[in-house]
Amino acid sequence: MGPGPSNVHPRVLAAMALPTIGHLDPAFIDLMESIKSLLRDTFLTENEVTFPVSGPGSAGMETAVVNMVEPGMKVIVCVNGAFGARISEMVQRYSGTPVVVDAPWGKPIDPGKLDAVLTKNKDAKIVAFVHAETSTGARSDVKELARIAHKYDCLTIVDTVTSLCGIPVKVDEWGLDVVYSGSQKCLSCPPGLSPVTFNDRSIAAIKNRKTKVQSWFMDVGLVLGYWSGAKRTYHHTAPINALYGLHEALRLLHEEGLDNSWARHQRNSEILRESLEKLRLETFVNGDASLPQLTTVVVPGGVDEAAVRNQLLAKYNIEIGAGLGQLAGKIWRIGLMGCTSNEKNVRLCLQGLEDILKKD
Ligand SMILES: *Cc1c(COP(=O)(O)O)cnc(C)c1O
Repeated sequence: MGPGPSNVHPRVLAAMALPTIGHLDPAFIDLMESIKSLLRDTFLTENEVTFPVSGPGSAGMETAVVNMVEPGMKVIVCVNGAFGARISEMVQRYSGTPVVVDAPWGKPIDPGKLDAVLTKNKDAKIVAFVHAETSTGARSDVKELARIAHKYDCLTIVDTVTSLCGIPVKVDEWGLDVVYSGSQKCLSCPPGLSPVTFNDRSIAAIKNRKTKVQSWFMDVGLVLGYWSGAKRTYHHTAPINALYGLHEALRLLHEEGLDNSWARHQRNSEILRESLEKLRLETFVNGDASLPQLTTVVVPGGVDEAAVRNQLLAKYNIEIGAGLGQLAGKIWRIGLMGCTSNEKNVRLCLQGLEDILKKD
């Protein structure tokens, strides 16, 4: 019950234990096509270029940045937590010029502030932002941020690592350009894969680059030689068994239905929030900015936050997350992501917290 990885469904683990076949086996190519189609249904997109990057969420982030950013390019990066800051760091490492739109940790990005920064930076080409900031538990209004970016003719890079399947992510309806996610949060797979989707405008921008993509491994143009087309060619050896797992997780998701998955995450977070209130524990993010899949809780004064987490793990077999960066020691992060989001887990966690805090 931390900020990821979430619990993995037994059917996903069973799928991953199946025999490893070749990465160019016709049966495996069929599975790849099925994964791409299920991912389109998950991102709510018709984008042709939709596939899982071999690597964790950060590899998806880096794939988005390295393909879109050319040396010297000005990129507006919205930063209201650790993951926005990571995007900015990557832009810098690939010789782009990040211009930061910041917000206090725990608050969403202010669309008005983005608009003001874009007015002063008309030469910016890209706006990057995080939908669900896992370091704080804050949700930003992706639809509105994308609308503003497009008003200034910028392409968008959107981090949906924690949001996908937990809250609505509507890639086509909201006009998002490059979007990446991760396998181990609300998709409930083991870590190691990062679904991405690129719309036609972003693919056209990549084709118009004046310089080569700085990473060989993450160059989408090269990777697509393996992930698309009638004749597939070797790029790298795909993580075969991890992809069996992703395929099964996507099948489970679509058996449940995306709407039902969003509703389940919402329902269980409401039970959690109501009970936290009864325990007189204060939540760090409230109202529209809060996330059903990740609730951040203010550590009460005088409580040793690490000791509480350790006891919860030792006595109740429950892991919750600590604060990151400037929130270290100040908050706990309770994840209700994917399969972890069920009422039984919520009740047990609350029972544990009540028991431990009483004695602390
Ligand atoms: C977890 C996370 C990432 C990074 O994913 P890894 O799988 O840890 O590399 C990126 N962005 C957000 C918002 C995340 O929650």
